[in-house]
Amino acid sequence: MRKAAAIVVEVLLKIEDILKPGMTTEYLNRVAEKIIDKRHAVPAFKGYKGSISKKPFPSSICVSINQEVVHGIPSKREIADGDLVSIDVGVKLGGFFGDAARSFLMGEVSPDVRRLWTATKEALHQSIRKCNKGARLSDISHCIESRAKKDGFSVVRDFVGHGIGRDMHEEPQILNYGPPGKGPVLKNGMVLAIEPMLNMGASAVKVLKDGWTVVTKDGKTSCHFEDMVALSEHGPLVLTQTC
Ligand code: MG
Repeated sequence: MRKAAAIVVEVLLKIEDILKPGMTTEYLNRVAEKIIDKRHAVPAFKGYKGSISKKPFPSSICVSINQEVVHGIPSKREIADGDLVSIDVGVKLGGFFGDAARSFLMGEVSPDVRRLWTATKEALHQSIRKCNKGARLSDISHCIESRAKKDGFSVVRDFVGHGIGRDMHEEPQILNYGPPGKGPVLKNGMVLAIEPMLNMGASAVKVLKDGWTVVTKDGKTSCHFEDMVALSEHGPLVLTQTC
């Protein structure tokens, strides 16, 4: 899983390095595919059949811009100055999965968008610190929601984080909201993909006609970060660390 995660990190760092306004999201997908191929891994999202869409996902990464929450399909769309761009990458290597996402701010963004971005990143980092043996699963959920609320943001309720390993999406589902102290007791050896999705406006989302792209119903900006965290005797280990 470390090796799969390392390829995800390589892709995210490369995209962070080259990403700029004017670039098409399709181009970013090609860059990702090249790296995944070079490392003899398989893009985990390509051909993925979700529970909502009947159509398999056509690309290797998800690129979700502004009011798009997750699962945006790369296209000829050009990234613009002021965009918030979320990139989600999944790979399979040697029977194990890696999965992580980062959001990037393009040039000058509004102060509100920057606050949303910071809150989402902090929600991820603060919730990772809850990943200790003996804690309860919903301690993670509660931490994410609390950080969102601190700045008056909402969390997406229809999509969740997840366990990860020999499947990309394993039990347990990790809600981004709820009271602390509920759900399974966390144990060392678990690997969790924690993925806060914070909205500037209301939490409601809908899926576009393409069968995949999730957008906020009110059209306001959404932000997404995701890391894979292994619980260990040394505390939480972030397998997808990019800084
Ligand atoms: Mg995920």
